[in-house]
Amino acid sequence: MTDTLAPVKPARLIINGEAVDSASGRTFTTVNPATEEPICAVAEAGVEDVDRAVQAARAAFDGGPWPKMKPAERQRILWKLGDLILAHGDELGRLETLDNGKPVFEARQIDVPMVAGCFHYFSGWATKLTGETVPVSPGTLTYTLREPLGVVGAIIPWNFPMIMVGWKCAPALAAGNTVVLKPAMETPLTAVRIGELALEAGLPPGVLNIVPGRGSVAGEALVGHPLVDKISFTGSTEVGQRIMREAAGTVKKLTLELGGKSPNIVFADADQEAAVRGASTGIFYGKGEVCAAGSRLLVEQSIHAEFVAKLAERAKKLVPADPLDPKTRLGSLVSEKQMKTVLGYVEAGVKEGARIVAGGQRQPVNGKGWFVQATVLDRVDNRMKVAQEEIFGPVLAVIPFDDVDDAVRKANDIPYGLAAGVWTGDVKKAHAVARRLRAGTVWVNMYNFYDPGMPFGGYKASGFGRDLGADSLRDYTQVKSVWVNLE
Ligand code: NDP
Repeated sequence: MTDTLAPVKPARLIINGEAVDSASGRTFTTVNPATEEPICAVAEAGVEDVDRAVQAARAAFDGGPWPKMKPAERQRILWKLGDLILAHGDELGRLETLDNGKPVFEARQIDVPMVAGCFHYFSGWATKLTGETVPVSPGTLTYTLREPLGVVGAIIPWNFPMIMVGWKCAPALAAGNTVVLKPAMETPLTAVRIGELALEAGLPPGVLNIVPGRGSVAGEALVGHPLVDKISFTGSTEVGQRIMREAAGTVKKLTLELGGKSPNIVFADADQEAAVRGASTGIFYGKGEVCAAGSRLLVEQSIHAEFVAKLAERAKKLVPADPLDPKTRLGSLVSEKQMKTVLGYVEAGVKEGARIVAGGQRQPVNGKGWFVQATVLDRVDNRMKVAQEEIFGPVLAVIPFDDVDDAVRKANDIPYGLAAGVWTGDVKKAHAVARRLRAGTVWVNMYNFYDPGMPFGGYKASGFGRDLGADSLRDYTQVKSVWVNLE
């Protein structure tokens, strides 16, 4: 493996504009999943630290300069943060790869530009959040003000640790909120580094606080804190449900982006070569640890055998390798626990009658790491566990269908509704099917594309509220109605 031994400095909490140790002095070690070796120590936030961070965010909101600052000044600072992220792209890309196991190609070429793009895109919104005048009566002046919510608690997962900082913080901050962000225990490093860069960009103390710590301690403390106005969460459906219940106690607003089991539908009239590539990147990008992964491949019966053969051939060429090598396209899963979960699903699929046509095994690199081969399971029935549950790894379930109605029925026959793909050469069919799919995002003749300007979020059990796009700003603002008596 290349370069993994270059030292990474210990990470501290970012609270009220300073890098600090936790009140208890506790630390945890973050581990490189590709080598199973420690990367560095990280200060571990407990309840007291979360309280300090929330108090700082509250003070920065209630009395501090951030929401009162000229929006153009907020815009300037957030734009500068985007620039600093780009300027530190190599460092951030490497950190993300060390911590998460994803190929540095993805971390450097996709994640870094995306997170910088979020700060650039949303900085522009700071000056464009307008209210309305409403024509009620000649005797009154009636108008609305679009105002920030206050303190936002962001709880993010380990699959896109850096991108999630952009998705959650950029719109929240642009709208004038202050933020306390808890990264996942597996992957705290890039969030802390971006917290440091935010201070360099000129974000006032307390506006963005970063508190790595356990979900059951730091996460719960954030959700239950009476001075937090909103929780924006991305992660498992189970924890999302729990957060919903806990947030009821203090009537917090919520954005929940939960799991998915997204159908990627290939019709017989599609460009097959493009669809094979799309089916492959749909599941194997990000090692399949992607909430919107096209993990159910629905293939029209008449092309099923030929299509699966081509896909299996492609999957077999996608060999796990050193994530720090720029040529690598399949990295290590994030943890041993995740690898065991994923391999357990492969076993369950085979027991239920699915057939492995590619992969299916752990494949260490240089004798180490939680790597799993690019796996294709054929002959899957939509009722099987591997078709209904989120696997969150490089495992594709292939399900044949008969016609358009059968495809739509199978695609929607799932509790989730995060994303979907449609591959067809028929423009009418593409739009008609896109309308019938119960999913927050539909890609036509493409898959796994994202942009700061396009809203992203779930239907059904995949959650509610939106990340990205103008729609996300609605979730970070509230509307005040003002009545003025003119008589
Ligand atoms: P979790 O939902 O447990 O973790 C997501 C975040 O929530 C982490 O920061 C976690 O902290 C935190 N958290 C955990 N429990 C609580 C709590 N009680 N209160 C507040 N915050 C909490 O996901 P897992 O890491 O356990 O992954 C399990 C499965 O979830 C995956 O296999 C996958 O199916 C799904 N998942 C979906 C994601 C998506 O993008 N929709 C992303 C990640 C996972 P901690 O650091 O302690 O884990």
